[in-house]
Amino acid sequence: MELKIKDLYKSYDHGKTYAINDVSADFTPGIYGILGPNGAGKSTMFGMLTDNLRPDKGSITADGEDIYKMGADYRAKIGYMPQQQSLYEAFTAEKFLWYMAALKGMNRKDAREQIENLLEVVNLKEERYKKLKYFSGGMKQRILLAQALLNDPEILILDEPTAGLDPKGRDDILNCLKYLREETGMTIILVSHSMDDVANYVSRIMVMNDGVLTYDDTPRNVFRHYKELEAIGLAAPQVTYLMNDLKRAGFDVNTDAITINEAKESILAALR
Ligand code: ADP
Repeated sequence: MELKIKDLYKSYDHGKTYAINDVSADFTPGIYGILGPNGAGKSTMFGMLTDNLRPDKGSITADGEDIYKMGADYRAKIGYMPQQQSLYEAFTAEKFLWYMAALKGMNRKDAREQIENLLEVVNLKEERYKKLKYFSGGMKQRILLAQALLNDPEILILDEPTAGLDPKGRDDILNCLKYLREETGMTIILVSHSMDDVANYVSRIMVMNDGVLTYDDTPRNVFRHYKELEAIGLAAPQVTYLMNDLKRAGFDVNTDAITINEAKESILAALR
């Protein structure tokens, strides 16, 4: 499914300032990272993509159809994981999923199949009878991801899925997303404020600042602007700084390297 945003505006003060200011973008199947400093408009964008907020002007279409006209049909095609969702702490992981499946109106047979499958996907099969109040931050995020996937969505939209997680928790959830992308071909859009988190996982980065879409490109091309990113309060991945420092120190290294492995290869080649 292709999601298209066209000439989108959203204001909270009757047009005096715009939280989203003339944004257009296309989401074909892939993994996208929407990044930006606080106040950039990320949550507003998340709200509009999930049909929880309406734009003042402009359109969002799914395969050419206006999502706000599609209404429930659109919502049936998306899965979303909001930030800081209050979990039902006394529920076990499995019971939570059953509860969410009932809220989504799923029948018991589909729910049973999906719950089995998803507990496997998010690697929580062994914890299925554990109460959520005993879950780590990473496990909580993974069970929230599972509930977002219950209706087998074509588009998955996540608000800060890695916030507050340690590196292992972060990689666990991002690897789940990568697996989903490869296995199902779904479109995944995640909002994040950390470039380091998403650099290795997303096919495109959309940088927002003051409601404007400033960059919309591959991670490699976006990180070439690391100085401009810094000026708006976003740090490029550590590797970008390292490679640029080495280059300035006279080493013939590839400043476009964005993964540790690429950096290692390039440094070794320069040393040889
Ligand atoms: P981000 O998620 O990137 O931090 P937001 O979308 O929350 O950005 O906010 C974008 C702008 O809109 C900010 O200037 C913020 O103060 C303003 N804003 C967001 N939500 C509201 C609201 N409910 N009422 C008034 N202003 C809001």
